Amino acid sequence: MMNTTTPNLPQAVPSAASDEDDSKTWSVQAVQGLLDMPLLDLLHKAQSIHRLHWPQGDIELATLLSVKTGGCAENCGYCPQSLAFDTGVKAGKLMDKAQVLDAARSARDAGATRFCMGAAWRAPNARDLEKMTDIIAAVKDLGLQTCATLGMLQAGQARQLKDAGLDYYNHNLDTAPDYYDQVVTTRSYQDRLDTLSHVRAAGIKVCCGGIIGMGEAPMHRAALIAQLANLSPYPESVPINHLVRVPGTPLAASADIDPLDFVRVIAAARITMPRARVRLSAGREQLGEAVQALCFLAGANSIFYGDKLLVTGNPDADRDMQLLRRLGLKPLHTQMRAHEKAADA
Ligand code: SF4
Repeated sequence: MMNTTTPNLPQAVPSAASDEDDSKTWSVQAVQGLLDMPLLDLLHKAQSIHRLHWPQGDIELATLLSVKTGGCAENCGYCPQSLAFDTGVKAGKLMDKAQVLDAARSARDAGATRFCMGAAWRAPNARDLEKMTDIIAAVKDLGLQTCATLGMLQAGQARQLKDAGLDYYNHNLDTAPDYYDQVVTTRSYQDRLDTLSHVRAAGIKVCCGGIIGMGEAPMHRAALIAQLANLSPYPESVPINHLVRVPGTPLAASADIDPLDFVRVIAAARITMPRARVRLSAGREQLGEAVQALCFLAGANSIFYGDKLLVTGNPDADRDMQLLRRLGLKPLHTQMRAHEKAADA
């Protein structure tokens, strides 16, 4: 019989987690050591740390909307929105505020707590940024947490977004520094780090992760996780994507990866960044439900929710809710609403 109840997660501090220092520096070798652990030992360690830091065990639902699609001047090898590749994605204009607000309201009504707005720009120009700040302020007024991913930012632009009420900025490191030029050549790893430091300095929370399955070696995965974990402080949100092989992109012919290796990366992210929301992002459709369940066991506690990511597919929202129910996992919003009700009583 299916278990449809939510487990009472133990509050006791598990011994496997007690030796973890939340602010320690991680070497690539130390992360590689985690990835190489026997799988069940790794899952036990990750789940112990997860329960220590996330005793409620809730799952955050974040909805992503492409507010400006295609026509991007960068050449990220996985991305169908780049001008450099013939993928059939048409370049569009920045959506109207009213359209974005309609989508945000629908996401909120479907249970999302965070609304992420993505624009396919190398970097926003002054006029577009002004429009985005107006949109962000209006989305925030709907009671949603706001997140944006708009490309590279200068320090002043990050401050403008902060003033508009932006909660999170997404800017992924994608992969290891040593593998980066195999994925994108139109900007450097240091460009990514510079934007992240402007975002942090402006007081915006950081959403930063990477993509697994782009032909990288296991050591590159370890190096990506070490790089993220050693950001000071490490990101509040860590999206881990499974490559979606989009025809027409240079990475479309990338080899399959062992799904259990993806689970291992999730576990390493949880262990090295215990207070971060680790998000199952692109590629969940390919993972299947059993592997997603293992990812939750490994410490994932956030998903992208909704039928579409920026331009690639995502599992149907109803199916996601059914999966969470079958696993006995509660979306964050149900817990937030119960808390609000208690506060109103
Ligand atoms: S990932 Fe972002 S920056 Fe890279 S090509 Fe796609 S839209 Fe442009």
